Amino acid sequence: MEDIARVKRRVEELRASINYHNYRYYVLDSPEISDAEYDELMLELKRLEEAHPELITPDSPTQRVGAAPVEAFGIVQHPLPLLSLTNAFSGEELSAWHRRVTNLLGGGRGFDFVCELKIDGLAVALTYANGSLTTGATRGDGYQGENITQNLRTVRSIPLSVPKDAPPRFEVRGEVYLSKAGFKKLNDERAREGLPLFANPRNAAAGSVRQLDPRITAQRPLDIFIYGMGWAEGKALPSSHWETLEYLKSLGFKVNPNVALYHTISEVEKYHRNWVENRESLPYEADGVVVKVNSVAFQRELGNVGHEPRWAIAYKFPAIQATTRVLDIGINVGRTGSLNPYAILEPVKVGGVTIKHAALHNEEDIHRKDIRIGDVVTVQRAGEVIPEIVGPIISRRTGKEKVFAMPGHCPVCGAEVIKPEGEAMHRCTNAACPAQALERIKHFVSRGAMDIDGVGEKLCQALFSAGLIKDVADLYYLTREQLLSLERMAEKSISNVLSSVEKSKERPLARVAFALGILHVGEETAELLTEHFSSIDELARASREELSSIPSIGPKIADSILAFFGQGRNKRIIERLRKAGVKLAAEEAKARELPLAGLEFVITGRLEAFTRHEAEARIKVLGGRATSDVTRRTSYLVAGAAPGFKLDRARALDIKILGEAEFLELLNRAVVESE
Ligand SMILES: [Zn+2]
Repeated sequence: MEDIARVKRRVEELRASINYHNYRYYVLDSPEISDAEYDELMLELKRLEEAHPELITPDSPTQRVGAAPVEAFGIVQHPLPLLSLTNAFSGEELSAWHRRVTNLLGGGRGFDFVCELKIDGLAVALTYANGSLTTGATRGDGYQGENITQNLRTVRSIPLSVPKDAPPRFEVRGEVYLSKAGFKKLNDERAREGLPLFANPRNAAAGSVRQLDPRITAQRPLDIFIYGMGWAEGKALPSSHWETLEYLKSLGFKVNPNVALYHTISEVEKYHRNWVENRESLPYEADGVVVKVNSVAFQRELGNVGHEPRWAIAYKFPAIQATTRVLDIGINVGRTGSLNPYAILEPVKVGGVTIKHAALHNEEDIHRKDIRIGDVVTVQRAGEVIPEIVGPIISRRTGKEKVFAMPGHCPVCGAEVIKPEGEAMHRCTNAACPAQALERIKHFVSRGAMDIDGVGEKLCQALFSAGLIKDVADLYYLTREQLLSLERMAEKSISNVLSSVEKSKERPLARVAFALGILHVGEETAELLTEHFSSIDELARASREELSSIPSIGPKIADSILAFFGQGRNKRIIERLRKAGVKLAAEEAKARELPLAGLEFVITGRLEAFTRHEAEARIKVLGGRATSDVTRRTSYLVAGAAPGFKLDRARALDIKILGEAEFLELLNRAVVESE
């Protein structure tokens, strides 16, 4: 008997501790213990409950894993309806609402607003009785919703129990959502399993919450923000919305941190404007700002009209999604010969901009999303990025849609198209393909490359069509007369072009290496290459071994560099660049080489003097690199206390192993050297 009392006490201790750490982790985002320690607590509780099933309570943290599937959801009557909000789509509509509220409150009385982000998820109501979550329901039609308690229990940021001083019975309201990252992960998994993809995080959240099998819901990374209290019994509640949010936080609920209290409507406008500009930075989707009158007394006075409260309004963000039709799928041939498909759309306005095209990346992507020619699709624009297609609206298919297939021949030059092993892109095999040549020229003059001001895409196109340039070297042999022969070229712009071309001869080596347009050599790789080779000639002479001994230059890049310099055409271009006076070597050897440059370190085990992160930072400052895998490129393995399997691997590869003392000595020597 005494024994069971002890077990019961331990079970309660464990539950309290797990609830506390859940709260730190999921609500405050600031855990105090490691995942492993947390797992241990959970495991102990599970074992005790398995041995004593009579001790299991519905609010035990073990019950989040998801109960058995339900046949269908029961109906929950909402004691106090969940109203919907009036929308405002413009500043004028917001002002009109403000005037109405001011008048209804009799003019002269000042009042405050609380602004919150409108999270794009699924509205739910959670009821707590005697300290425990008893019911979780969807909003439904506002008067009755579906009972999804079992599913909501699996959402880690929903407390299953609340502190003792909470009202005996109360209801909170919130928005269940899926973060952008969670949404992407979920869709990636579904794509791998060949399941249909969710169109957006809201659909995914709604689909997850309404799963008949709570075990599936439990696997979805759902989260919640609580934004208000529906009703409460047996306790006086705060007199303002702002204080209510504070109170909810004190009860352990997760409240969105981006709330603000304002006195004037122009501040509200500013808050809205700020989030229109910065919504991309949020880790979840928000589709507007909810503005509420702060005072609860004023809220009561204002009351509702129909299903909508007069004291709140949703001031929406401009839409970034719209639906339109895919008229056709076109293909651009890139500078590396890649065939880049894009959708030709029926023009549609998205977030105030008319879009006609959307990126489609590659054939696999088109088939993964199941986009067909003729489909009605959802398109979305995010910031400055090229619009993309979220997915087709399957229910609007007529059966006449056509499945897209990559052509077997280049649409520009007619050469054979191949899809290299392990690559997503199809490529034109003709090195002399005019489309590729033009794209290479456009790349060469572009901002991150040779940055030839005044020679934009249009001029490149015109020069290319007129036969005045066939490759990048031709740019440096353009004459005033040739430029004059082009239509619409004024004297002044010709001088501009010629002087920009002249100036570009002095670009740093890394820019030149990037501008050449070697497949897989982006800006960063070009930078890295010039740390090891002081001229284009040296790079061109490098062997496969030399190239792949450079950290982060894999065999794919090495092969591509070799192939580039192996082509006679490219050799000729480089010779003509040299003759024109384009600088093909680094300024001079670096004035002071950092002491650990070219060395790669792997740290294993625990160091006494500093954390691994600090040690890695020290290596970096001195010019070295810290990586996590032991390879034959590793220069040193630093072995602290209790080293792992990396030590064995380093021994097997005959890599120099440093103890902490030796490592410190090496660092100190390097510091002295660099001073
Ligand atoms: Zn081609």
